[in-house]
Amino acid sequence: MDLFQQYEYTALDRFLTYVTIDTQSDPYSETCPSTEKQKDLGRLLVSQLKEIGIADAELDEYGYVYATIPSTTEKAVPVICFCSHMDTSPDSSGANVKPIVHKNYQGQDLILPDDPNQVIRMKEHPDLAHQIGNDIVTASGTTLLGADNKAGVAEIMDFANFLIKHPELKHGEIRILFTPDEEIGRGVNKVDMDRLAADFGYTVDGESLGSLENETFSADGEVLTIQGVSSHPGFAQGKMESAIKIAGEIIACLPKDRLSPESTSGKEGFIHPVAIKGSVEEATIEFIIRDFNDEQLQAHERILELIVQEVLEGYPNSGYSLQIHEQYRNMRSVLDQHPKVTALAEEAIKRAGLEPKLQSIRGGTDGSRLSFMGLPCPNIFAGEHAFHGKHEWVSVQDMQKAVQTLVHLAMLWEERG
Ligand SMILES: [Zn+2]
Repeated sequence: MDLFQQYEYTALDRFLTYVTIDTQSDPYSETCPSTEKQKDLGRLLVSQLKEIGIADAELDEYGYVYATIPSTTEKAVPVICFCSHMDTSPDSSGANVKPIVHKNYQGQDLILPDDPNQVIRMKEHPDLAHQIGNDIVTASGTTLLGADNKAGVAEIMDFANFLIKHPELKHGEIRILFTPDEEIGRGVNKVDMDRLAADFGYTVDGESLGSLENETFSADGEVLTIQGVSSHPGFAQGKMESAIKIAGEIIACLPKDRLSPESTSGKEGFIHPVAIKGSVEEATIEFIIRDFNDEQLQAHERILELIVQEVLEGYPNSGYSLQIHEQYRNMRSVLDQHPKVTALAEEAIKRAGLEPKLQSIRGGTDGSRLSFMGLPCPNIFAGEHAFHGKHEWVSVQDMQKAVQTLVHLAMLWEERG
């Protein structure tokens, strides 16, 4: 029996509304949420959750939405959390998004009407080859779409709607969490873990149909401060040691054909300078260091320090300091202790008629930090593609498959939990 045969999905309609609400986050803001406008979507989600019949839905002062789908079983079952983020990336405008549904896609170029130079082509987006006959949603050419992660938000909302409409289906207590500020690395800064009180979680923020990610980068930030020697440039012979030039030499010594974002893929890590400023007297370079393996991460950090030391040998009166701060860690080490969390998600993807694809993310998710905060939390596909840019797209059919996957997963935890 097909659970979903009679069901009228609500994910697309919801999605088309959510993307029109500008929820861009701002890395330069110190408040939480970083932008008040994120609460506009939070408030809408709370009112829609209440319409669905979820009485305890609430938006808190930091912009987090919490809600509970009550249990329908007598069994004691772990509490499962489904999480998506409401903000969009600061990399591309999220204001006045005009979503377009391209029905029954046949492999053609998708020309975005508000800027005809923006064309989504199958050869640049190979996943489109699997979308023939589907309905593709894009933006109109001047903004991102916001499928990252409003596709996930819409899918979780539709999933909640489905479960409430089908009280005969057995599942344990389900917690819904929508976060602000994920795109600026602060998605879980103010999450109230006691209020959440969940045992295991899933972010719904992945890419291709059927994908499941149980591994993220481990990530550190490093700030290198170089102290040079300043003097009057007319009388600097034999004295001046310019911090600007030292910084330039260090950057020039970084590996180019390996250990850089431009030259790595798969499981390879990198050392990446992201900002630089300086004067003759002092210069600072900010780096991000990434790897899937914590020991490799530290090895990259040693390589960087060796480069710095070697360059500074040529500048006997200059000095440096290197400050390392942890950003997040590979969630795999936590998830390996709770194999059921990933295994049941794979099973749910199969029950939705898909082939599960276990992958690692060359980045982080809210789940990488949640996993270390006591909520083991892999990432399930939401169907979002080409995120953070004007070519972003998602298909309606992939969104519906994500809804099915979440429903099967809730039921599986009741069966096997
Ligand atoms: Zn995302």
